[in-house]
Amino acid sequence: MAKVLSGKEVIASMKEKMTARTEALKARGVTPSMCIIRVGARPDDLAYERGARKRMESVGVKLDVLELPEDIEQSLFQREFQRVNEDPAVHGIMLFRPLPSQLSDEPIARAIDPVKDVDCMGPVNIAKVFSGDPTGHAPCTAQAVMEMLDHYDVDLTGKNVTVVGRSMVVGKPLSMMLQKKNATVTMCHTRTLDLAAECRRADIICAAAGHAGMITADMVSTGAIVIDVGINVNEEGKLCGDVAYDEVAAKLGEAGAVSPVPGGVGGVTSSVLTEHVIRAAEMMYGI
Ligand code: NDP
Repeated sequence: MAKVLSGKEVIASMKEKMTARTEALKARGVTPSMCIIRVGARPDDLAYERGARKRMESVGVKLDVLELPEDIEQSLFQREFQRVNEDPAVHGIMLFRPLPSQLSDEPIARAIDPVKDVDCMGPVNIAKVFSGDPTGHAPCTAQAVMEMLDHYDVDLTGKNVTVVGRSMVVGKPLSMMLQKKNATVTMCHTRTLDLAAECRRADIICAAAGHAGMITADMVSTGAIVIDVGINVNEEGKLCGDVAYDEVAAKLGEAGAVSPVPGGVGGVTSSVLTEHVIRAAEMMYGI
């Protein structure tokens, strides 16, 4: 069976480093602080919020939530956002999306202070990720994949990496970040002619398509590394990834490795978000 790439290990290692940085900030009188802007109370948003709160509090980062009514109109929504954007005590902002249909997030994405834009919604951070400028905040999930690979000492130089999915939150930024680490990246999507062949020739597969169990044993090569970003619910109502875990883990063999769902990339994403808030606070105080 393949080695299990556990998100828990990555989270524990990140926690240690983040706690030290938070303590250093607090010694200077700064408590790194995050504001989540939530319109309404979607169960998915509430679940994410609970996870983020737990992670942030565990390392001394403060989390506030600005809860706005579901029927709020655009002008008031923007005013509320601007208040948080201009508040010097707030270092990181995250807006839960999708928004209700009467609202547009475009003015928010344009207006957000790039330093506070900890989940990369605005054009400045997107441009920085795509141009390889390390001063930006990358999208948290794409960064979480990189943290997993880094934690497990996966050398990307010259490796063939197949990324399945080309969204702006995962696939596209991830492919840029992998290339910055000298990987040769193939991006796949719904129009890819032979997805199985593109996956089979990969040393590393990053699956971010959002289809339960679509990466099967016949699509991977023995010894490959498979990172499963997908979060899906299967026919039995259980949380699962894009990878058919048991058969893929068996095919990869002892030389291979695979991240599980749950227990893989998902939890690391909240740690990355927390790290971005600490980083934003450090940037604001020139540390
Ligand atoms: P999107 O739906 O925005 O994008 C999915 C991408 O996968 C698209 O580019 C699509 O191609 C491609 N795709 C879909 N089906 C196939 C297929 N059968 N073969 C090849 N390519 C396919 O999803 P996201 O990027 O937002 O999320 C992807 C997955 O990651 C989801 O399961 C989501 O839940 C999970 N996720 C996990 C997070 C975490 O914290 N771990 C955070 C964010 C997302 P095309 O462009 O042609 O339509």
